Amino acid sequence: MSDYMSSRFSSLTPYTPGEQPKDKKYIKLNTNENPYPPSQGVIDAIGSEQLESLNLYPDPTCSSLKKVLSEKLGVGQENIFCSNGSDEALDFAVMCFGEKGVVFPDITYGFYKVFCDYSGYSWSTIPLKEDFTIDPSDYCDLNKLIIIANPNAPSGLALSKDAIEEIVRTNSKGVVIVDEAYIDFGGESALPLINKYDNILITRTFSKSYSMAGGRVGYAVGNPALIADLLTIKYSTNPYNIDRLNLAAATQSIIDQEYYDKCTEKIKKTREKTKEELKKLGFEVIDTQTNFVFAKTDKVYGKDLYLRLKEKGILIRYFPGERTGEFIRVTVGTDPDMDSFIIAIKEILEEK
Ligand code: PMP
Repeated sequence: MSDYMSSRFSSLTPYTPGEQPKDKKYIKLNTNENPYPPSQGVIDAIGSEQLESLNLYPDPTCSSLKKVLSEKLGVGQENIFCSNGSDEALDFAVMCFGEKGVVFPDITYGFYKVFCDYSGYSWSTIPLKEDFTIDPSDYCDLNKLIIIANPNAPSGLALSKDAIEEIVRTNSKGVVIVDEAYIDFGGESALPLINKYDNILITRTFSKSYSMAGGRVGYAVGNPALIADLLTIKYSTNPYNIDRLNLAAATQSIIDQEYYDKCTEKIKKTREKTKEELKKLGFEVIDTQTNFVFAKTDKVYGKDLYLRLKEKGILIRYFPGERTGEFIRVTVGTDPDMDSFIIAIKEILEEK
């Protein structure tokens, strides 16, 4: 750290993104990316017309994207905030609504606490139940900013819309953020609740079900007053938060919904097959609703499995910690990717 770093940031522990090693070609099952490429329409949308316009700033209002999203979601454009990845929407939401303190589960997306620390807000966690589920009653009447990933990560387990509603209804003095990064792969969206409550904000991403992790586009949906607050932060930091090429790409991907629905169906099928294969090998497999599988075997610890798989050219994630250390989290890739993964797992277990 330099001698010039502002003291309010000097003790910040930043988020560590999933590894992206360049030493050889890996089967990458570690960062929940989509194994399928964007649609041809999206590739064409980043065509010469957009490239030749790179001398011009992009549309700061993201109007093309808001238009297709509002039609798809059945909400007004004033209900939508477009962001640079959903991480940006989450970060801005914590800035806007986290002053009274922030609460989230003890096992969830690791970035939430970093957003809180960066904003200088206090945060606390509520333990998941023994089976990794969330007990909604733990979150009632807190009246702080609550963040629930639904489905949750890395468990992959989802809460019902009714359970989310109970949390939103009993926290009228605090905002509830529902992080729906994985909702297209399963679970029930809380979207209908935005017309009923003014304290719910839903965040979503193009990184997973729209094959655009490299494009960095996300969005938040909520009451227009909440959206206006997010815009205050955007126009105070980076008004052109989505670049011209990715704005065109994200807009086209909503138009090409049919293609993405097909990819999602394929991923869900592969996920179920992978779950079954792992169970046959004696793994305990959590009933994930996402594009990743969270599973453990009593034969090999999570970190050891990760290391052995890496030697075999397959990247996955493990999560050090008392309750998560035995587990591995494996992104659902293509069928051939998952066949290679299962073969590698069999070999590792046979060696034991
Ligand atoms: N929420 C959850 C639960 C995630 O796992 C991720 C990314 N891994 C994000 C949000 C952020 O995604 P992005 O910024 O790519 O939209």
